[in-house]
Amino acid sequence: MPDYDQSLWRQTCGESIKTQKLSGDVTVDIAIIGGGYTGCSAALTAAKAGASVCLLEAHQIGHGGSGRNVGLVNAGLWLPPDQIRSHLGQVPGSRLIDLLANAPSEVFGLVNAHEIACEPVRHGTLHCAHSAKGFEDLHTRHSQLSVSGAPVELLDANTSRKRTGSPAVHGALFDPRAGTIQPLAFVVGLARAAQDVGALIYTESPIQSLRQEAGMWVLHGENGAVRAKSIIQATNAYHQGIADTAPAYVPVYYFQYATAPLSHNLRASILPEGEGCWDTGLIMTSFRLDQEGRFIIGGMGDLNSVGGFAHKAWVSRKLVAVYPQLADQPLVKGWHGRIAMTSDHIPKIIQIGPHALAAHGFSGRGIGPGTVFGRLMAESLLNDDPSLLPVPPITEYRESWTGLRRAFFETGAALTHLVKTRF
Ligand SMILES: Cc1cc2nc3c(=O)[nH]c(=O)nc-3n(C[C@H](O)[C@H](O)[C@H](O)COP(=O)(O)OP(=O)(O)OC[C@H]3O[C@@H](n4cnc5c(N)ncnc54)[C@H](O)[C@@H]3O)c2cc1C
Repeated sequence: MPDYDQSLWRQTCGESIKTQKLSGDVTVDIAIIGGGYTGCSAALTAAKAGASVCLLEAHQIGHGGSGRNVGLVNAGLWLPPDQIRSHLGQVPGSRLIDLLANAPSEVFGLVNAHEIACEPVRHGTLHCAHSAKGFEDLHTRHSQLSVSGAPVELLDANTSRKRTGSPAVHGALFDPRAGTIQPLAFVVGLARAAQDVGALIYTESPIQSLRQEAGMWVLHGENGAVRAKSIIQATNAYHQGIADTAPAYVPVYYFQYATAPLSHNLRASILPEGEGCWDTGLIMTSFRLDQEGRFIIGGMGDLNSVGGFAHKAWVSRKLVAVYPQLADQPLVKGWHGRIAMTSDHIPKIIQIGPHALAAHGFSGRGIGPGTVFGRLMAESLLNDDPSLLPVPPITEYRESWTGLRRAFFETGAALTHLVKTRF
């Protein structure tokens, strides 16, 4: 049963933090539920601003998507800019695009400022065309991003093959603003930085209920309670308990496998400039190297589902299709995680009560966006100014047919993986 404990990121995490379980009563200005990028960024921001802060994590820091992802620090959402503007409106859409264009600078800036040991590499990303049709899609993205001022570059098939070292790429969109990190180490480093400036960080401390009492929020855990003027719920796809504020999303699983560190020669033949990659396939594939030269490949699917065998068989075939030189490399680590997908692929901020915000629905793009959303939610609550939020807050959000749609994605991924090996 591959899962969090099997993850490469757990094995190679260069950051650590000492924490305690919540016990007894604590009173703070702002309480944050969830120890991922969103919660830790909010905690760091609020503590830096001089507020008293407490962050509560049900398991360990990075237990959710933040400790399991690919580590691509992108400068935007999945959606091309025109679709973001069409969903949110011209002004809010353009504001979100601008905020997220700067998200990699914010992430790598925090890494530098707090000396977070998370294997930062800011050499850009390559969105690789898996077919001629995929390259057409990249043309559209390129023109929309260029008009929005993004310094992206469209690479033809020959150049992309040289850049990736893969014969299977039909072209690529290079984004120099982006990069890669060791995702778990980044979130643990953020929590450590927040703790350094005074935030109380409690782990193995699931919050079971929230209620308002005399103008204060009261959060109940197993062995203690927190009273706070403001709260942020940052639980995304790993929300547990607290039924009243459970986020609505379609759960989509994504898995990754890693080789052992490659030999010097093999490593030199793959992504020599160190970009992170994903492709234009509807059932997408990602690939990158880590600091020690392990090759990491990912695809959509739940390794613990009935289709798990198809995903595992596919990934070995795919590895060879993309990089024939890796034919003899066993995949030694496998893990997966859950993505909170929304229908329009735009993250949501819900006003769950007075001075209480929840964010979810990063739809597989949460390193930069979660870091930015966490910061801005904390700034908005501390300044009592909703206009600071990255998207207009809503009071309720629903998704329909989430179980059916989850089954649709999982079955589609399993069937695709049963039959396909082409890039
Ligand atoms: C496999 C995978 C690959 C991905 N790849 C990328 C990528 O390359 N680039 C990118 O930008 N994004 C990627 N993402 C998305 C990104 O990882 C997420 O959007 C991001 O981590 C969300 O951060 P978060 O802080 O909002 O939530 P999470 O990191 O999920 O944190 C939520 C936390 O809340 C805790 N929690 C839940 N309920 C409670 C409770 N009642 N009390 C206390 N704590 C609670 C959970 O234990 C969890 O630790 C990927 C996601 C997955 C799963």
